[in-house]
Amino acid sequence: MTDLPLIPDAPQRFGADDFCTRCRVCTDACPPDAIFDVKQLVRGKEKWYVDFDKCIPYFNETYGCGICIAACPWSTPGRAPKMAETWSRRMTTSPS
Ligand code: SF4
Ligand code: SF4
Repeated sequence: MTDLPLIPDAPQRFGADDFCTRCRVCTDACPPDAIFDVKQLVRGKEKWYVDFDKCIPYFNETYGCGICIAACPWSTPGRAPKMAETWSRRMTTSPS
């Protein structure tokens, strides 16, 4: 929470969505198969989606699973800035 006078700006697009479409490491790593490999319609918007009816029981059984977070390449310490830079460059140089 803050009361700083923030100026809203547009989201920064650096290809994270494309990356997830091709990656799917978390989907494959999830033991109860809770992560959909295609976006789902959630309250009228297409989103990447976790089936919590599958995730939560496993999460409780294992006292806090988190395998998906550990497996995600963006979670590797120090790796995310380089990946974001590479994908941003691809977005600006690839033909539209
Ligand atoms: S926390 Fe575990 S069970 Fe839940 S979505 Fe991630 S890998 Fe799957
Ligand atoms: S592992 Fe990370 S980058 Fe890969 S699909 Fe899952 S959230 Fe996206």
